[in-house]
Amino acid sequence: QQVEKTINETIQDQLGPIIAPIKSDVDKNHISDKKKQLPIYYCRDELLTMIRENNVVVIVGETGSGKTTQMTQYLHQDGYTKYGRIACTQPRRVAAMSVAKRVSEEVGCELGTTVGYAIRFEDVTSDDTLIKYMTDGVLLRESLHEKDLDQYSVIIMDEAHERSLNTDVLFGILRKIVSRRRDLKLIVTSATMDANKFSTFFGGVPVYTIPGRTYPVDVLYTKTPVTDYVEAAVKQAMAIHLSTPPEGDILIFMTGQEDIEVTCYILEQKVLELDDDQGRHPKLSILPIYSMLPSELQARIFTKSEKGNRKCIVATNIAETSLTVDGILYVIDTGYSKLKVFNPKVGMDALQVYPESRAAANQRSGRAGRTGPGRCYRLFTEIQYNTEMLANTVPEIQRTNLGNVVLLLKSLGIKNLLEFGFMDPPPQDNMKNSMYQLWILGALDGKGELTGVGKKMTDLPLDPPLAKMVIAAQKMGCVSEVLTVVSMLSVPTVFYRPKDREEESDATREKFFVPESDHLTLLYVYQQWKQHDYSMNWCNDHFIHYKAMRKVQEIRNQIADIIKKNGMQLTTCGQDWDVVRKAICSGYFHHAARLQGIGEYRNMLTGMPCILHPTSALYGMGYTPDYVVYHELIMTSREYMQCVTSVDGSWLAEMAPTFFSVKKSHRTREEKRRANREEMEQVRSELMNEKQNEEQNEDL
Ligand code: ADP
Ligand code: MG
Repeated sequence: QQVEKTINETIQDQLGPIIAPIKSDVDKNHISDKKKQLPIYYCRDELLTMIRENNVVVIVGETGSGKTTQMTQYLHQDGYTKYGRIACTQPRRVAAMSVAKRVSEEVGCELGTTVGYAIRFEDVTSDDTLIKYMTDGVLLRESLHEKDLDQYSVIIMDEAHERSLNTDVLFGILRKIVSRRRDLKLIVTSATMDANKFSTFFGGVPVYTIPGRTYPVDVLYTKTPVTDYVEAAVKQAMAIHLSTPPEGDILIFMTGQEDIEVTCYILEQKVLELDDDQGRHPKLSILPIYSMLPSELQARIFTKSEKGNRKCIVATNIAETSLTVDGILYVIDTGYSKLKVFNPKVGMDALQVYPESRAAANQRSGRAGRTGPGRCYRLFTEIQYNTEMLANTVPEIQRTNLGNVVLLLKSLGIKNLLEFGFMDPPPQDNMKNSMYQLWILGALDGKGELTGVGKKMTDLPLDPPLAKMVIAAQKMGCVSEVLTVVSMLSVPTVFYRPKDREEESDATREKFFVPESDHLTLLYVYQQWKQHDYSMNWCNDHFIHYKAMRKVQEIRNQIADIIKKNGMQLTTCGQDWDVVRKAICSGYFHHAARLQGIGEYRNMLTGMPCILHPTSALYGMGYTPDYVVYHELIMTSREYMQCVTSVDGSWLAEMAPTFFSVKKSHRTREEKRRANREEMEQVRSELMNEKQNEEQNEDL
C-alpha cells in the first residue's frame, strides 16, 4: 500500500495532474482471457511438439503475438524447468524488466521468485527462479564462467531480428554449445521474415511461423520534407485527437529521451489549453517511454485508457518490436532513430540520429494495425522513403566498437577472431580498431593475446577504459575512490536541474566543484552524500537525484563484491586525490587533450579539436590546465569534452611512453607552439605507422 502510494505520487510529480492514477490490482480473469486471445495460443501444442522433436527451432511471429510472454510459460508447463531454468534474452533492459514483471503477474508470483530478471548491475532472481528474462549481455557474461550454460534447459534468444551486438556474439557461442549439449533446447525468435538466415546458420533447422492476425494500415506521407519533427508530430497528434472519436490510441516514434521530453511537454501544454476550453474534449494522457525512464513510469503505457479517454505514447524504437501496447490505431513516425555508430574521426562510438531503415518504418506502421484498421502518418515524403532510407538497419556488430567483444572472445580462448562463427562478420577495420584500443590499454600484447591486465579487465562488467582505471587503482592504492568514480559514471547524471529553477540548481551544483576535475567532483558528491547517511533529504536539498544515487550505491556494491572475489583490496587514498586523477589518466590517455588556445584543446592522438563543456567544473572555475583527459565527446554544434580531469603531462609519458614523450627545453612560446604542432604530427604519423605495422603482424 505504502509503496503503491509513493509510486503514484512520483508519477503525479513527474507528469502533472493530467494523468489518472494507476489501477494497481491486476485482474486475474482478465489476464487469462487475454492470454487465450493471443495468436500463439492457437498453436501452443504444435509449437511444443516441434520443440520436443528439434534441438534448435526458429519461431517467427508478428510483434504482439505472444512469443516473449507466453513461450516461457508454455515450456514451464511442459516440464522443461524440471531439468534447468528457462532463459529468455532481450536486447533491451527495459524489455527484460517489463516483460518479466508481466509474466510474474500472469504466473501469479512475486517478481524475483519463480519469474525474475537480470540486467547489468541488477539481478532480480533467486534460487527458485525458473523463468529468467535477461539482457543478452548478461547471458554472454554468464558464458564466461559457465562454459556450457548448464543451468539452463532452454534458451530463448528473443528479438533476434534486432541483431544487437551481444545477440550476434551469442549466436556464435550458442552454436558451439548446442553441438556439445544434446539436452539443451535453443529457440530463436524473430518478428520479421528474414528468419531463414537464422535457420541456415544453425544448419537448416525448422522455422515455425505463428499465423498472424493484423489489420490493414493506411500509410500517409508528408508532401514536403519536415524541418522540425517534434513540432510536426505534436501538430499531427493534436489533429488526430481533435478530429477522431477517442477510441484508438496514438503512438509517436521519437529519437530519444530529449526529444520525447520536449514533445511531451508541448503536448501537455496543448492539452491544458484544451482543458481551459471547459472540458468539451476527451482527456488525452501523455505517456513517455524510453530506457532511462523509471520503471514505475514505464509500466504506465500498458494501463488501459478509461472509456472516452485517449492515450498518446511517445516512444523510442523500444515500441517498434520489443514492447507491444494494445489499442494503438494511429502511429506517427518521425522517420529517425538513434544508433550507436563507431566514429573513426574521434575514435569512439557516438550515439547519433539517423534516418531509420525502410524495414523499421514498416515495423512502426504495423503497430497501428493490431486492434483494427489503423493509420500511420509518416513525417517524411515518399521520395525520402525510397531514396534516403536503407532497406535494413545495419547490424550493430558492423557499426560499433568491439572492445568488450574482443576481450570476451579472447578470454573464451578464441585465437583467431575472424574465424569465430559470426553470422555476419564485423568489418576487419572495426575489429582491428578495437584490438588496437585494447592494445594501447595494455589488455592485449603485440601478438593480440590477452595479457594479465586484459584477464582482469574481463572479470569486470565495465567498458575496457573504466576497467583499466580500477585495475590501475589497485597499484596506486585508491580502489575505493576509483570505484565511486566509475559507479557515478555508470548512471546518466545525478544532477537535477528542474525547469524554472535552473539558476538555483546550478549554484548549488557549483558548491561541489573540485576545480581540477569533474571526476573528482562526482567523487566529492558521493562522499558528501555518504557523510549525510545516504539521506534522501540531503539529495533533495542539493538538487541531486536520490534514485540515481541509490543506483550508484548499488552498482558500487556490486563491483566491490566482484573485486573482493578476485582477491583485490578496497584500498583508499584518504584525501590525497592526486592518485585518483592518475588512475583516471591510465584508463583514458587515449582521450588526452592538450591546451591550444583560450579554452581550446586538441586530442593528442587524433588531433581532433575539442572544448570544455559548459557544465564542467573546470569551465565553471575558469581553470584551463595544459593537459586533460575526458570521459567522452559530445558532438553537437561543436565537439565538447564531457567529464574532464586535469592531468600531469609527465603521467602521460609514464603511462603511455609509446605515444607521449617529455621534452625539456627553454624555447620561446612561438617555438614551443610550432614544436608542439610538429611533435603532435610526428606522434600521429608514428602512431599510424605503428598501427599499420601492428596490423600486419597482428595474428587476428
Ligand atoms: P511478442 O513477443 O510476440 O511481440 P508479447 O509476448 O510481448 O508478444 O506480447 C503479448 C501480449 O502481452 C501483447 O498483447 C502485449 O500488449 C501484452 N503485454 C506485454 N507486456 C505487458 C504488460 N507489461 N502489461 C500488459 N500487457 C502486456
Ligand atoms: Mg517479444
